[in-house]
This record gives sequence, structure tokens and C-alpha cells, in this order.
Amino acid sequence: MTDLTDLTISESLKKLKAKEISPVELTTAYIEKMKNNDKYNAYVTTTEDLALAQAKEAEKRYANGTNRPLEGIALGIKDLFCTKGVRTTACSHIIDNFVPQYESTVTQHLLDDGALFLGKLNLDEFAMGGSNETSCFGPVVNPWSKETKLVAGGSSGGSAAAVAAKMCAAATGTDTGGSIREPAAFCGVTGIKPTYGRCSRYGIVAFASSLDQAGPIAKDVTDCAILLNSMAGYDAKDSTSSKVDVPDFTSFIGKDIKGLKVGIPQEYRPDGLNKEISDYWDKAAQILKDAGAEIVSVSLPHTKYALPTYYVIAPAEASSNLARYDGVRYGNRKEGNGLDELYINTRTEGFGKEVKRRILIGTYVLSAGYYDAYYLKAQKVRRLIKNDFDEAFKKCDILLTPTSPIEPFAIGDKKMLENPINMYLNDVFTVSVNLAGLPAMSLPIGLSQNGLPFGMQLIGKAFDEETIFKTAYQLERGANFVRM
Ligand code: GLN
Repeated sequence: MTDLTDLTISESLKKLKAKEISPVELTTAYIEKMKNNDKYNAYVTTTEDLALAQAKEAEKRYANGTNRPLEGIALGIKDLFCTKGVRTTACSHIIDNFVPQYESTVTQHLLDDGALFLGKLNLDEFAMGGSNETSCFGPVVNPWSKETKLVAGGSSGGSAAAVAAKMCAAATGTDTGGSIREPAAFCGVTGIKPTYGRCSRYGIVAFASSLDQAGPIAKDVTDCAILLNSMAGYDAKDSTSSKVDVPDFTSFIGKDIKGLKVGIPQEYRPDGLNKEISDYWDKAAQILKDAGAEIVSVSLPHTKYALPTYYVIAPAEASSNLARYDGVRYGNRKEGNGLDELYINTRTEGFGKEVKRRILIGTYVLSAGYYDAYYLKAQKVRRLIKNDFDEAFKKCDILLTPTSPIEPFAIGDKKMLENPINMYLNDVFTVSVNLAGLPAMSLPIGLSQNGLPFGMQLIGKAFDEETIFKTAYQLERGANFVRM
């Protein structure tokens, strides 16, 4: 018999509706994979019993014809989404025993549509990182690793690895500066960060509120469209959620892209860019050209300021968001002599090194005397970065770039660990998108000589995920990437 976990969501739904397979069978197959693949450290909490109970319910619904759009589809949830009654940790010791009393809006949408949850997935602590190595539960291992254990990317490393190793049909992720796209690229799967405001942030542990967005990580472009249909939508509980209609994203799958203008930002091709990545970039452009698109060169002149801008704004917002974990209002308390010592002990023991670094940077750039020089300046540059995109989109409909300047590296790589800036540099192609609030997808284009996946990024205009989906589908078809 074929392996049921090979099926995409669209294929599974067809078979479920035709009663060729049952939700319990399908869920059991995924649970089996979770057990066989725990060496990847993708899940930090598993909820098999809950999932099987939901699968039985799904079985009834298929039998009596009350099945919903995602009935019986088994998902993994990044452990940053609050799940009612199921431990939610953000992979930080400071809240490692937190059991929410409520469900995040995005996961509630998925449950309402009949999806079931296999468990909570590993991530960088509070989603701060690019390799999943800052998690208090240890790093996720990239399923594509050969002899050396490689990083799965971050911060949604557990989500991308679980999808690649077929430990769930798809997963939720969040993206503040690349955390959906980069792990998707490293693990050879597909993920989309929607336009800021498309998905509600309610019930998602906050990192940097003006940048955070939820989105799906899945086996292919079509599955991302199916999931985004469910995840997106206005929510009164999130004041930055947009009152914009959610089109049926799946209706753009297969649409032709004749005459579509695809922009190649010249600043994304620095002299030292990895040759293999640059070759795949050319190949991707050629695939789109063959499908009828026109390739145009565009300029995003403020690209070189994107990383410094992001690494001022994101830590500033993080330092404010994380102030609540003080052992009094939130967070595991560590007693001390007096209030100051209680704070110090709680935060010293609860937070990891990278989170502390971000809080320090953030507090510094927001402090009197430095606020104008750093935070305010960064906000101004953020606007210039957004203006660059506005200008570029006068000349094209969508942008094509690599997702990451490098391929997956070894867990514990000295260069990355000895200087955090080396890790931050990997975000060079992704952070501008968050600063500008735009939607962007990463999808696999091919393998490196080392047999490791490379991802390509498609960046769309605000609330134009449609163009991303139809372009990505053509690219996917042309690339013909063989999943793990
Ligand atoms: N790697 C980036 C960071 O460390 C992005 C993380 C994210 O998108 N959550 O901040």
C-alpha cells in the first residue's frame, strides 16, 4: 500500500471524500511517522489521543455528510500559538508550563474547519533566531541531514522539519523576519508569510508586533492556498487585523501568468552571492519566462539598510512585549530577597542568551538619549524600504529572489555562534518583506551539490497573495522538485 503520509492535503481530501481512506487511518499514519522520526526533535508536545478522538469525529462527519473543508487533516502547530488546554511554551523556560485557557484565532479557524492537531512544534525561543538552536528544548535536526546534523532553519524549524519528514500534513508557522520562509527553504517545503494583517495575531505569543504574521508551511503551493483560506480573515480581537475580503486562494492555482511582469531586484545579487543559488535564481526566472512571464530588472536601493533596521525595530518591540514575563504578571517565578531580586532571578533563569541579547538591544535603542538616534531613525528607514517596494511594483507585478543566501549549515556551527551578526546576515533576503508588511512565499527550487534544498522567494504587493499563488504554482511545476 502507498504511504498515506506522502499525500498532499488536496489529494487526501479527495480520497477522504471518496471514502478511499479514513481520517483515523490517515492520522494513525502520521502518528507512526512522528514516533519513528523523534530524532529530529520537531515536536515538543504531542497530542495523539486528542488527534485520534478528533479523527473519529471526522469519520462520523464524512459518513453523515457534515464534513468541513479540512475535515480529518492532521496538522502540527508551532508552539507559539496558544492552544486551549494544551501546553504552550514559545520554547522558553520562562513559560514552559503554561497551559492557555483560550485558543488563538488562527488555530480556532483551523479547528472550526475540521483540522486536527498532532502536537506543538519546536521553534527558536520566542521565535528569535534563524536556526532553531535557541529553543530551550534543543535544536531541530534537518531531515535532509547526511552525516552531519544540520539546522532546520528558524524560527519555525519544527514546523518545516515536521512537514518535510511527513510528521504532519502541514503546519502553522509565524514570520517576523523570515521564520516561515527560511526554514521552509532549508527543509525543502513551501511556506507563505501573508500580508501583515491578513491573519489575526490574537493568541500568538508576541515577538515584534508590527512584524509578526502567521502563515502555513506545507508540502506544496496548493496546500498553502487551502490552509491560508482557513487561517486568514478579519478578527476584532486583533486591532491590526485588516478588514479585507479573503478570496479563495485555491482558485488561482493553475491560472496562467502570460504577460505577468516578474521583477528581479538587482541589490539582491551582491558580488559574493553563492554561485549555485545565483544559478537557481536564473533557472527560476527562465521557468517563469517559459510560462509566459516577462522578466524585468528593478531596484530596491535601501536594501542594505534592511538588516540594521530590522535588528533595531524587532528587538525594541520584543523588549516591550517581553516585559510582562517578570514572575509577577507572567512567567515562572524565581523567588529572591525583595522585588528587584525576584525580577532578576526570574528573568536570569527563565530567558536564554539570545532572548536576553534582544531585550538588552531593545531596551537600549528605546532609552532616553538613544531613542532618536536608533529607534526613530530605524522607523524612518523602514518607510524608505517600503517606498522602494512601491516604486518597484510600478514596474512589475511580483518579485523573484532567493530565500536565503546560504544552504543549511551544521548544528553548532562556530561561525554562526561566535558572532550573532553572522546568524543575522542570513536574514538578508527576508526581513525587508516584514518591514514593508508584504506577502512572500518560499518554495523549493532544487538541490545543491551537497544534496540540500534551496528555496526561491516570491514577494507580492500588499494583499495580492493571489499573484503569488498563481506564479508559485507555475514555478513549482517547472522546478519539479522531488519532495523527501
Ligand atoms: N531570524 C530572524 C530573527 O532572528 C527572524 C525570526 C522570525 O521571523 N521570527 O529575528
